[in-house]
Parts: sequence; structure tokens; C-alpha cells
Amino acid sequence: MSVGEFDIIRRYFTRRTHDREDVILGIGDDAALLRVRPGCDLAVTTDSLVAGVHFSEHTAPEDIGYRAMAVNLSDMAAMGAEPAWAILAITLPAADEAWLDAFARGFFELAERFSVQLVGGDTTRGPLSVTVALHGWVRSATAMTRAGAGVGNDVFVTGTLGDAAAALNESSAEVPRDEQSWRELRRRLLRPSPRVNEGMALRGVATSAIDVSDGLVADLAHILQASGVGARVEVALLPLSPALRAITTMGNARRFALTGGEDYELCFTAPPTHRSKVQASLAALSCPVTCIGVIEPTPGLHCIAPDGREVQVQEPGYRHF
Ligand code: ADP
Ligand code: MG
Repeated sequence: MSVGEFDIIRRYFTRRTHDREDVILGIGDDAALLRVRPGCDLAVTTDSLVAGVHFSEHTAPEDIGYRAMAVNLSDMAAMGAEPAWAILAITLPAADEAWLDAFARGFFELAERFSVQLVGGDTTRGPLSVTVALHGWVRSATAMTRAGAGVGNDVFVTGTLGDAAAALNESSAEVPRDEQSWRELRRRLLRPSPRVNEGMALRGVATSAIDVSDGLVADLAHILQASGVGARVEVALLPLSPALRAITTMGNARRFALTGGEDYELCFTAPPTHRSKVQASLAALSCPVTCIGVIEPTPGLHCIAPDGREVQVQEPGYRHF
């Protein structure tokens, strides 16, 4: 079997550099935390979108621009950081002005919504790819990481899961057409709303957090591994949108919710004593939140079906290698 994405990072890029005192958190979380001055940490993250890998040649340029900002904002959200500065490295096959105009519209729509300023970048010719580095800040020791989940904590997710994955699989859908539902699902895929304000509101309430980019099972597993714990998730509790329920069976909807990526919701943990704080801080932002399970002492993720049997999850998460 070939070496995986995370093996590559671990073997070739982790701990090869100087152990600086101002690196509060390095490789392995949704963003790095750098102590730029006492009391103030910079949160830094980067994500690339490559044509043919992250989007197809048919994707509208406005959606590509929007998404390039959205995926990075989602990593800021997972840290509870306030986004501030972006750098954009773009490689273009040609200088197509109509394309660029639409791309910029999508990109700046989200940047402006969250008061992010583009402060630099790089422009080159070649196969289409877009890389954004996003910088934000957080008061020292208040960022949420993947490592703080404690035994007995509730496991929560924001919004609904599986919508983007359903839209990705639209071509293989066999059910009668329900155009309104498909439109909503497609919008979830193309225009995810990063939970930036929700992430900031959860600082001091959640004990760990991650954004659901690769699918709940894969992403919650990162929290469990970083925290040295396990979890039990009740499949019947997974939040499913009416649109998702309208276009497929309950079984498929739950499968999308467990393994489908690209929803860009937050998965986080909090002690039961913080239940009302979790509800109140997210209700203030009109963000739905659902408790889907509990953190357990023994490592491993157990997804329990309504009939009490454990669900064996196939293909958790997208693999680049
Ligand atoms: P996310 O899904 O939150 O964007 P990734 O799964 O892409 O995170 O990456 C996991 C971790 O590995 C992150 O902390 C990221 O910064 C780090 N990472 C990924 N690729 C590299 C690389 N080439 N060099 C150093 N660190 C990397
Ligand atoms: Mg992330």
C-alpha cells in the first residue's frame, strides 16, 4: 500500500525544524498557533484547491473563489480564532478576465463578510490551482484544539451533516427528482457557510473542536487521537436536513452524514456541565446544535445504529494518496 497523506506529513515534515518557544501548536491541528506577543496568538492555516481534484472543470469560477476562502475560514472557526489576513497564491492556465472577475467576486464576498483583508500572494501560469493562507488571532490559551476532549464530555455537531456529500453524488441518485431539495443540497456543497462566529462563541465552552471537512467519522477520529480517548456516537441522533431526507433513504442519509465530507460544520466536545452554555451561545447565532454522543476512556470510535448494533464504517475520509 502506498504511503498516505498523514504518513507523508508525519515522516517528512513533522519535527524537522527548530523547536521554537513561540510555536504554541505546530503541525497536526486545524491551524498553527504562534505567540506573536504575550497574551496574543496568531492562528495560521493554508489550504489548496486543485482543478480536477477539489473541483471539476465545470465549477463556476465564483464558486471556486468562494470555496478557497471558505475552507480556510472553516479551519479558523475550528480553532475559535478571529480571521484577519489572507494571502492568495493562484496558478492560472490563462489570463481570462471574465473568469478572474467571477473568481474575485466569490473570494471577496466571504472575505468581506468576515472582515478578512487580502494582503499578498503570488500569480503564476500553469494548471489551475488556488492556495490561500489565512491568518487570524486569538487571546493566548483560549484557542480550541483537537486535543482537549475529556472522558464523559458530550460530542456535538453544528447544523446538519451529509448534505454536501449527497450533492456530490447527485449523478448516481435513483430517486424521483425533487428540484427544490437538490438546489438546497447543491448550495450546501458550493456555498458552505464557515462557522466562524460559532467557533469564537465556543471558546471557553468547548474542550476540543474540528471542522468537518473529510466526514464526521474521519474528523472526529482526529479529535479522539489527539485527545487520547474514544467515543460512542448514536447514529439516530445525527442531524439530517429535510432536503437530504427528501432525496434519499434514511440509511443513505445516515451514511452520508457519517462519512461524507465538505459540510464545514463544527464537531466539538464539552462537559455536560456546559450543556446550557453550548445551547445558549449557539442559539444566539441562530445555529442549530446537536449532541450526537459521548467521549469514552477506551480509544476507538463506535457508531451505534438505532437497533443497538455497531455500524461498520467504510471509507472514512477522502484520501489523497
Ligand atoms: P485540515 O483538514 O484541517 O486542513 P490537513 O488534514 O490538511 O488539515 O492537515 C493536517 C495537519 O498537517 C495540519 O496541521 C497541517 O497544517 C499539517 N500539514 C499538512 N501538510 C503539511 C506539509 N506539507 N508540511 C507541514 N505541515 C503540513
Ligand atoms: Mg480543518
